[in-house]
Amino acid sequence: LPPLARIFVRLPNWLGDALMARPLMHAVRAAHPDARILAVAPAPLLELLASDGVIDEALTWPAESDAASGPSDARGLQARIAAFRAEVALVLPPSFSSAWLAARSGASMRVGFRHEWRDLLLTHPVRRPARGDLHLSREYLLLGERIGARATVVPNLVPSASALDETRATLAQHGIGDDRFVVVGPGALYGPAKRWDASRFASLGRSLASRGLRVLVCGARSERDTCLEVAAGIGSAAVSLAGETSLPVQVALCARSALAVCNDSGLAHVAAAVGAPTVALFGSTSSAWTAPLGPRVRIIQRAPVCSPCFQRTCRIGMICMTAIEVADVARACDEVAA
Ligand code: SF4
Repeated sequence: LPPLARIFVRLPNWLGDALMARPLMHAVRAAHPDARILAVAPAPLLELLASDGVIDEALTWPAESDAASGPSDARGLQARIAAFRAEVALVLPPSFSSAWLAARSGASMRVGFRHEWRDLLLTHPVRRPARGDLHLSREYLLLGERIGARATVVPNLVPSASALDETRATLAQHGIGDDRFVVVGPGALYGPAKRWDASRFASLGRSLASRGLRVLVCGARSERDTCLEVAAGIGSAAVSLAGETSLPVQVALCARSALAVCNDSGLAHVAAAVGAPTVALFGSTSSAWTAPLGPRVRIIQRAPVCSPCFQRTCRIGMICMTAIEVADVARACDEVAA
């Protein structure tokens, strides 16, 4: 394949998946150093990935509202992508709409995963391995291989200077200042089958606090009750920041943390990506497929015969999660943070 000048990448919509696409993005950049790369994704994810320096142009999905054409200017987005005149489109999401967007881009080579009607819109439909046979980041790299991209070194994700400033202010506001702290993430937006019990998080937090660590319990606004419960269970060493931090600040908090302990969630992927020592607890999903990527990651997964089921809720008592003991997690924390 000759050097490419313009490459369009439709990135995933989920935080964890977007971070697992970083190896592909770095591989594409290494294979085509002079190409301009246009990425389309939700705005917070584009902002998150900006520090990688791999993306030259970014357009927001869903289409941003436009005063002239209404609340969702999908046609305007299509027109802006077409104006980019990509030679190649890499389509990471499995949806029909993402393949449609690639077809409308005018790219003569369109690479994405094979899936029902999408195949008609792609010039290079790629067969997806059975779930968990390959890590998701390796699946994405299969798409890049069609344009000569090969796995390369992926640097740690870097927080922005403004987010670090804001983080300093947040820590000062909560009386944490320069104290060492652990980020604890007891939520998982996917569903309860990915959540370790709040009382066990609290027990673990007390153990970590007894070693002199402050505990920041983090999560989305919708996870506020769980985070408050965990923080209350830990005591005065803990504070809940659920719903109070933007994604860039959460990245900076993880980068400054001594340790992160989270369910399999976007937060675990963020912590791993910035290089924080990270312990990720897996329930109904597959760590072989979606373990967070980073230099210091420990996975804890107790897989009963029913695992992975990929269910959001469990009907048989969450054996996969209840089998994870506090002592197991505490030991993993010691190992990864050593
Ligand atoms: S069915 Fe099995 S793997 Fe799935 S959530 Fe329940 S215990 Fe976990």
